[in-house]
Amino acid sequence: MTRFEHERQQLVELLRRKGIRDEQVLRAIGKVPRELFVHPAHVNRAYEDTALPISQGQTISQPYTVAFQTEKLQVGKDSKVLEIGTGSGYQAAILAEMGCRVFTIERHMELHLQARKLLEKLGYRVATLCGDGTIGWSEFAPYDGIIVTAAAPEVPKPLLDQLADGGRLVIPVGNLDTQAMQIITRKGSEYSVEEVLGFKFVPLIGKKGWNGINSTP
Ligand code: SAM
Repeated sequence: MTRFEHERQQLVELLRRKGIRDEQVLRAIGKVPRELFVHPAHVNRAYEDTALPISQGQTISQPYTVAFQTEKLQVGKDSKVLEIGTGSGYQAAILAEMGCRVFTIERHMELHLQARKLLEKLGYRVATLCGDGTIGWSEFAPYDGIIVTAAAPEVPKPLLDQLADGGRLVIPVGNLDTQAMQIITRKGSEYSVEEVLGFKFVPLIGKKGWNGINSTP
């Protein structure tokens, strides 16, 4: 077993101890090489349970947060999932490894291109788009799951509209210092919300995010 494989399995055990139960999620984390998604300067820290800087002042999310959000989505093989905030591409790779059909949007061209190249190289079939994810990706809607990996000032309505009946939207909502993870389930025209406090993400910037709705990051 290589050093990174060993560290990856240790991370899986740590996430299990921290309460992640979904074996599909744990299996995917045990397979995706996070060391290829972090900035080369941080390769030695790839399997610490911490967010790390990538380019454009953005971050690759903490593994626990990736696992938590993915578990809450309750998706699996052949589920159609939209991610807002491709960043490094790691979260998209986890979903693809689980057999989901993944669509992901990133607003920074450089990150979009880098992630697309790496996902292709690793053989993950993920549809990528450079643009404002706060308006979703209507062409392929509805989605069984929508995951937002940046902090929203409020829930963008287009994302609620693009959710399939029975689908789930997992999104951090709050101010720029702290957010609650909202897990929103659609039942017809009704939406129920569960909230888990205590997350911190980089801002979701766009028409229905920071800047777009009378607020500045
Ligand atoms: N999921 C990523 C990963 O696995 O590496 C981590 C994402 S990082 C915490 C949040 C990302 O959301 C950043 O790359 C940022 O540029 C992007 N972002 C912010 N606002 C966005 C928007 N309106 N549309 C698309 N991406 C956005």
